Amino acid sequence: MHSDDGTQNEEVIGSNANCLSSRGAIPTSWIARVSSKVPDVVARCASRAAHLLVQYTNRHVHIPGNPWDRYPYINVKRYEGKLTCGTRFRPLTLNCETVNTCNNACVICACSEQTRKKISMSMSIFEKVVQDYSSMGGGHMSLTPIVGDILMDRDILERLRILESHPGIDDLSVTTNASLAHRFDDSELRYFVSRFSRIQISIYGLDAEEYREMTKRKTYDQMVTGIRRFLQVGADKVTFSFRLLRQWTRRDVDAWLDRTIYANLAGRAITTEPRPINSLMTGGYANWGVLDTSKPLPFNASWCPPRVNKTQCMLPILSFLVYSNGNVSFCPCDNFDDVEELSLGNIKDATLLELYNTPKAKALWNWKEHGVPGFCKRCTFHIPIQYLRLSREALDDPFKIMGG
Ligand code: SF4
Ligand code: SF4
Repeated sequence: MHSDDGTQNEEVIGSNANCLSSRGAIPTSWIARVSSKVPDVVARCASRAAHLLVQYTNRHVHIPGNPWDRYPYINVKRYEGKLTCGTRFRPLTLNCETVNTCNNACVICACSEQTRKKISMSMSIFEKVVQDYSSMGGGHMSLTPIVGDILMDRDILERLRILESHPGIDDLSVTTNASLAHRFDDSELRYFVSRFSRIQISIYGLDAEEYREMTKRKTYDQMVTGIRRFLQVGADKVTFSFRLLRQWTRRDVDAWLDRTIYANLAGRAITTEPRPINSLMTGGYANWGVLDTSKPLPFNASWCPPRVNKTQCMLPILSFLVYSNGNVSFCPCDNFDDVEELSLGNIKDATLLELYNTPKAKALWNWKEHGVPGFCKRCTFHIPIQYLRLSREALDDPFKIMGG
């Protein structure tokens, strides 16, 4: 089934593409509609200017240099302590990439395009990340690498133990492809799962052939075994996001889960209704700003249509990102290769809060005056900031957009 902007199937719950993040609960068709209506939105805003001014005065914490001043529908007062820290600003959450390597090489992912050195985050940088984040108020932290898989991180259990002594970081989530679960014995995997509020498992094929075409790996059976082990130690934490190439329906996916994953799971009753499916995509995959979308995907899966972004992207209010080398990115979502124009510096040189409050960070919050960063112009993960005017839920529950 095709949605009205030509992207595929109404079953698509996720936004653009990738794995890890499966960022997204917004249909790409919706984003296109919002983008096309931006001038209307602006016109309507103008006619309500006086009303908004009153609302603005009431809602906003009065802090000079508020980077969101020009978006009166961002109610900073409502998110005091979550979008602010004293007289400074912060995004709602933090992404910490402890590794930037992956066991897969998916055709819809920029992982293989990385020129960054592939490393594990040193413990000293990790400790500074959690210390800085706690000091700025903590909250939710995602350990999903921007490109990579958390199970590649040989130090992950030690990091999770360190996080136990930072109660201000009170909500952890992660997305994994689950194929490397065999690296952990049952008690380690149980501990891993116990530390997260949410674990999203990305599934890249419902049969060995589709999985191989997507991931370039022959590890379909290993993936199935890994998912079943995750369910056995913590089914209540696990959700699924499907990134598929064949044009499967929701019914097909439910049947696959019942037949391949839930069947004969030993030792526990697992509730399969409703099945915990976060998103299901069979097309509309993002270009990551660099992928060659003129090359067709296998099995007629589609790319997200090209676009030229002009309005501010909302994703950086939801989160920012620390890379495995300590560099910090304004963009938590697409900046897989750490481009300079979106870089906020390195955590070794300043605190996270300082890095988010530099003149450069504020300029990045003002595309109208400073221009759209080159990397952002054609990014198909982009979500216009006007979305926040229409949906308070985006700030109340950012994980619906960002995945795990
Ligand atoms: S290559 Fe790795 S990081 Fe990229 S989409 Fe596939 S599993 Fe996710
Ligand atoms: S438009 Fe820019 S800020 Fe938004 S997701 Fe893309 S690269 Fe990140």
